[in-house]
Amino acid sequence: MNLLKRTLLASALALLSLPAMADAAHPKIGFSIDDLRLERWSRDRDYFVAAAEKMNAKVFVQSADANEQKQISQIENLISRGVDVIVIVPFNATVLTNAVAEAKKAGIKVVSYDRLILNADIDAYISFDNEKVGEMQANGVLKAAPKGNYFLLGGAPTDNNAKVLREGQMKVLQPAIDKGDIKIVGQQWVKEWNPTEALSIVENALTRNNNKIDGIVASNDATAGGAIQALAAQQMAGKVPISGQDADLAAVKRVIDGTQTMTVYKPLKLIASEAAKLSVQLARNEKPTYSSQYDNGSKKVDTILLTPIPLTKDNIDLLEKDGFYTKAQIAGQ
Ligand code: BGC
Repeated sequence: MNLLKRTLLASALALLSLPAMADAAHPKIGFSIDDLRLERWSRDRDYFVAAAEKMNAKVFVQSADANEQKQISQIENLISRGVDVIVIVPFNATVLTNAVAEAKKAGIKVVSYDRLILNADIDAYISFDNEKVGEMQANGVLKAAPKGNYFLLGGAPTDNNAKVLREGQMKVLQPAIDKGDIKIVGQQWVKEWNPTEALSIVENALTRNNNKIDGIVASNDATAGGAIQALAAQQMAGKVPISGQDADLAAVKRVIDGTQTMTVYKPLKLIASEAAKLSVQLARNEKPTYSSQYDNGSKKVDTILLTPIPLTKDNIDLLEKDGFYTKAQIAGQ
């Protein structure tokens, strides 16, 4: 094509405001995150952007602030910016079918990050093995409270992970229930994984059961934090074994203090850098290596599942060795 033709074509494209042509050497990635106000997700973002930039990609980050409509418009905005790949941490697993279809129509690859997007034509899913996380949580509590009344504090009902975690938890708890060792005296999902909501749920559960709760299987550290406040108000913090996940700094301190039995460490640098690599490969039409497939209701999605690590007081120093926190952060007030 001669220069004149090329210039004409370029201006025609500009007039039509078509998305810029994919540039394999410098892919553009949109990262749509449910809620950056939460500790873990801002770390995911930082690690992801750093890893992607090392591979010459440019990342556009959006936070939906736990609002499904906002997330849909942000995805639409990323589509019109002409990104090559959109990586999504969905707030609501079930409402993105159309937004994903629009992205695919525009030739954009879609990656589901940490949480699975259901009923949508996504290209890949990357997460930690959430069923294993659930097993670790139940095992941690069961070891500390082999008998008694149990309360199950689930995650957000809009998050597929919450259900998978519960499946893992029940795998471990069911035999103890069948033996009559433990009894589930209540269970509830916590809207938006909100700690304040968790606090009031556990407050009510304690009242209903005359404080006779011997173990709480909480699905993450934020909700465990709320539950532990409810326990503390009854002078029961540290007496009722309780699980979590994420190794949030506050939770790590609680594990050291003995008010939280365990947490699960998911090396965020690993998932973020693997996701960045996967996204760049998809943008370059290369074939990523997957470890499994996961049915999301509309297809078997190519999946990478990473391995979580259970942490108790005994091995919590792993976080320092792994560079997740400094000694000063853990010791800080
Ligand atoms: C993640 C957890 C997180 C929770 C709340 C889940 O989908 O897997 O790591 O604690 O969402 O943000």
